[in-house]
Amino acid sequence: MNLFKEAYTARIEQLGKEREAGRRVVGTFCLFVPDEIVFASGADRVILCGGRSNTISVAEEYLPRNICPLIKSSFGAIVNGSCSGDLACPHFGMVDAIVAEATCDGKKKMYELLHEYIPTYVMDLPQMPDSRTSIGYFESELRRFGRFMEGLTGRTITEEALAREIRSGNETRRMLHRLYEMRRLDPPPIRGSDVIKMLQKQYFLSPDVFRNGLREVCDEVEKKTASGEKCGPRLMISGCPMPAGNMKVPQIIEDMGACIVVEESCTGTRSFWDLVDEQKDPWTALAERYLKIPCSCMTPNQGRIDSIIELAERFDVDGVVYYTLQSCHGYNIERYRVGKALKEANIPMLAIETDYSDADVEQIRIRVEAFLEMLS
Ligand code: SF4
Ligand code: SF4
Repeated sequence: MNLFKEAYTARIEQLGKEREAGRRVVGTFCLFVPDEIVFASGADRVILCGGRSNTISVAEEYLPRNICPLIKSSFGAIVNGSCSGDLACPHFGMVDAIVAEATCDGKKKMYELLHEYIPTYVMDLPQMPDSRTSIGYFESELRRFGRFMEGLTGRTITEEALAREIRSGNETRRMLHRLYEMRRLDPPPIRGSDVIKMLQKQYFLSPDVFRNGLREVCDEVEKKTASGEKCGPRLMISGCPMPAGNMKVPQIIEDMGACIVVEESCTGTRSFWDLVDEQKDPWTALAERYLKIPCSCMTPNQGRIDSIIELAERFDVDGVVYYTLQSCHGYNIERYRVGKALKEANIPMLAIETDYSDADVEQIRIRVEAFLEMLS
């Protein structure tokens, strides 16, 4: 775990040196932007999603109050940075462009404003993944994105480079599967909050450093398996992403003695569950894999419901905490269908809708406590 902590500072230094040497760096906000294309073009990338509350008041000078805290936190950090404020996002100063994506409405509109501060490229996304034309359309969008990256770096994306990056991405995904397999044990040999913190760094660190750290953690965790007392109720967290700085709910859950054994989240299984097919044409394979991400911006989104039930059974959970951010309509509305499916599968669910402030910590604690009592 120490490796991950130290890697953060080293990464900032590395990016500074890379940029001095002429390497281009892009900032991203979403799982739908394939790392493989960024790296195959010779660029680097860092994730810019905000998880802190102290930049939200700045954002509210530009954005409506009733949009999700993730959008406000990210935008506030960036805008404040450009005004030389001390709340600036340290990563933002290191990027040449933003690669955005047409997912939820709040993000799409925020990107339009962001473009006034930094060149912001928006990748379109078919939002009906099951339709006959969606894969072909997404593949053409990925190729357009590839051309944007080539323009930025001046380097052609070859099929070989893309295939190499696909293999590298899959290697990381396989290793995350290895880690998550161990979490099926009772007691799980690693805390859920430690895994979430690690996954928050997945798109910030370089793939090699992330993977080496992950390998070390897997080796360490493997030695500890199958020992110790059984833990409290085994829980899954499902819902909105939890970017760095936002650990409120997992921490409350674990402080009360429950174990988080899996996260159906972009800081969890959605980031790695499906591999890219290494046998197919790389562009098609990427389009197919990335369109499987069951984000709530998709409709209909049966894939997400199926995946939640499958994960709940696979990780033998006693209950699900459905975690959403205020004003995130996609995940908040989908709560109904998830709750219904879980009820049919006889798995209890607690819904928590919150923001990045500490104002509701006590209230969440009381609700989690009551939920855990009901499960035990
Ligand atoms: S929740 Fe959806 S929009 Fe947000 S990061 Fe995940 S895939 Fe992207
Ligand atoms: S999908 Fe939800 S959590 Fe993610 S940016 Fe949009 S509103 Fe916020």
